[in-house]
Amino acid sequence: MRDQIWLESRLDNIWKVLMPEVERKNKVIIRFKGRWKNKFGHIKKLNDGSSEIVVNSFFRHLDIPEYIIDTTIAHELVHYMHGFQSPYPRQYKHPHKGNIVNKELNKRGFEMLLKLEKEWIKTNWKSVYLSLA
Ligand SMILES: [Zn+2]
Repeated sequence: MRDQIWLESRLDNIWKVLMPEVERKNKVIIRFKGRWKNKFGHIKKLNDGSSEIVVNSFFRHLDIPEYIIDTTIAHELVHYMHGFQSPYPRQYKHPHKGNIVNKELNKRGFEMLLKLEKEWIKTNWKSVYLSLA
């Protein structure tokens, strides 16, 4: 099982690789939460001004490949960079309009990981989900 320390180190790593030029302007918290089938994570600005990234609790299990957690974190960090649930100015009207998240991830070298993610979800997620739920 993956723990909190592990998750925080994934966040730091992905941040460095994905968007080294983006300053961490507020406190960014990450934690496992929720047991969702159709949602892998989200980012939310909290009342104290920090941003909270949530990663599906099922992803604690080693049945889920590390790159699934990486792409989930990367997705939420793109929202942060685009000014959603973060101190940055909002760059777009809607967080997912026109596939902006994946476009940004592709531009930043995550294309292969996104392909792996898509393939793994298609082939494995349903059965893994059923075995854990
Ligand atoms: Zn999103």
